[in-house]
Amino acid sequence: MTSIGEKFNGIGMTSTRTRTRMVERLREQGIKDEAVLAAMAAVPRHIFVEDALAIRAYDDSPLPIGAGQTISQPYVVARMTELLRAGTPLRRVLEIGTGCGYQTAILAQVAEEVYTVERIGSLVAKARRNLRALKANSVRIKHGDGSADLGEDLEVDGIMVTAAATQVPTSLLLYLKVGGRMVLPLARHDEELKGVQLLTVIEKAPSGIREQTYDAVRFVPLLSGLA
Ligand code: SAH
Repeated sequence: MTSIGEKFNGIGMTSTRTRTRMVERLREQGIKDEAVLAAMAAVPRHIFVEDALAIRAYDDSPLPIGAGQTISQPYVVARMTELLRAGTPLRRVLEIGTGCGYQTAILAQVAEEVYTVERIGSLVAKARRNLRALKANSVRIKHGDGSADLGEDLEVDGIMVTAAATQVPTSLLLYLKVGGRMVLPLARHDEELKGVQLLTVIEKAPSGIREQTYDAVRFVPLLSGLA
């Protein structure tokens, strides 16, 4: 079987070898989930960035994707996916903040179905083009505001928010199955951590909501309304 990446191989900086090196670096940085590492190896990251930036696509840095937004660095994408999976297969995942669709493509490798919501119309169009090129058929993209009611009858086992919230978006928790997890960058209000965003996992346990914090990150803010 050929991986989706093989069809998009460029030469030099955009080749499979470059992606393999990125995966080796992710291992060194502490990513352990083999399903996540395989997803990162399979999805060609360079097709998600402007041609002029393709040479930097596999660097461990965030890159601009237009409309003032950024694609997260590979480590953060891998880390959030690892936290969402928590070692178990995912059936349906909701993502808020599609951006260029790279994280969506990674999620589509580790979940059966992905429903992703983006508030900026030009990025919805860009993500549609990128994901169509990869034939990511298990992905549904909506132009909508993930901080408001999505007006959908949804039940998912994982939610990933890829923009920084100032408080846990409780409206989204309604979509989460018991036993499911939400991963998001959450801006802290405590005195000693003021302004710092921490990757946070909210687990909907049978006994109630459990919250755990992980790495410090920098994301663009979760905003309301469409653009
Ligand atoms: N995961 C993306 C990058 C995310 S950048 C990628 O791989 O490219 C954060 C994205 O969240 C931006 O595109 C921003 O427009 C979007 N966003 C911010 N607030 C949102 C909201 N309320 N609903 C949906 N998308 C939102």
